[in-house]
Amino acid sequence: MSRLYPWLESVWHEWQASLQSGRFSNAAMLVAEPGLGGEQLIDVFSRAVMCSNYEHEACGFCHSCQLMQSGNHPDFHLVKPEKEGKAISVEQIRHCNRQAQESSQLGGLRLFIIEPAESMNESAANALLKTLEEPSSHCLFLLVTHRANSLLPTITSRCQQWHLIPPSSESVACWLSEQTKKSVPAFAAHINNNAPLTTLAFVDEGKDKQYSKLEQALLDVVQGKGDALKLAKELSTDTADKLTWLWFLLTDAQKVHFGVQLPQFTPGAASIAASSDYALLYSQAQALSQLIEQLREHTGLNSELLILDWLFKFNGETCL
Ligand SMILES: [Zn+2]
Repeated sequence: MSRLYPWLESVWHEWQASLQSGRFSNAAMLVAEPGLGGEQLIDVFSRAVMCSNYEHEACGFCHSCQLMQSGNHPDFHLVKPEKEGKAISVEQIRHCNRQAQESSQLGGLRLFIIEPAESMNESAANALLKTLEEPSSHCLFLLVTHRANSLLPTITSRCQQWHLIPPSSESVACWLSEQTKKSVPAFAAHINNNAPLTTLAFVDEGKDKQYSKLEQALLDVVQGKGDALKLAKELSTDTADKLTWLWFLLTDAQKVHFGVQLPQFTPGAASIAASSDYALLYSQAQALSQLIEQLREHTGLNSELLILDWLFKFNGETCL
């Protein structure tokens, strides 16, 4: 078995025990934030389920394992959007439903991985519901989702749910320092939701330096001496990531007002807190999280102008 990321091991051991005792549900769901390496867990799981020799891990030698290695196992079905960003269609799910009625070709289980499950449109989700209500004993469905709350409750309630819990900021920083052979600060993990692989990319791509510049630029704006126009322009590329980093900075600064100081806090949190009162930080953090959501849902908006208006509000002004 290939080595798993350390934070996946506890879920994998539980899954292995379930598989070995035949208790793994025929309808299961994995809730995993991006950047946690959930795909590695799914890969190991799929190989184990398809292996003809063992129940809880892949032997690597049997015919089934070899078919999995070459990506040609006829009883393994990976269902995902036909194009990135598109929906999983009702036709795709109906095709699954038909396959689920048939016995497996190699005599073992048929495995369906549906990923990301939230990309099923409503009719696709409804079509799947019927199969999940009475899954046949020779089929196993694993739905993988980043956002369980965007799925129909009727779907989630029929699945045994598993959640991948992100490690702490300190353990992510420690793991990354080992991987990269350089010191990675805990705040880097913190502003990336403690997702180790996202943080690794953050460090590898030099985004930590980019963050430091943004932090200083925001502090200047909060102190009334910065260039809000320049910062708004800067924030209008890779907007979701950059605004999320600043959201962490503002929420850390709010906690500083309550006397909290944690090792993973953003370096500028104390200075922001010293330059702005709690109420303003609170309302600006709320407004920022709404802005992030608004820009995510409506791609055609003028992000630079909306960000500029948000920045102006630090000084009680508005540009809209
Ligand atoms: Zn095998």
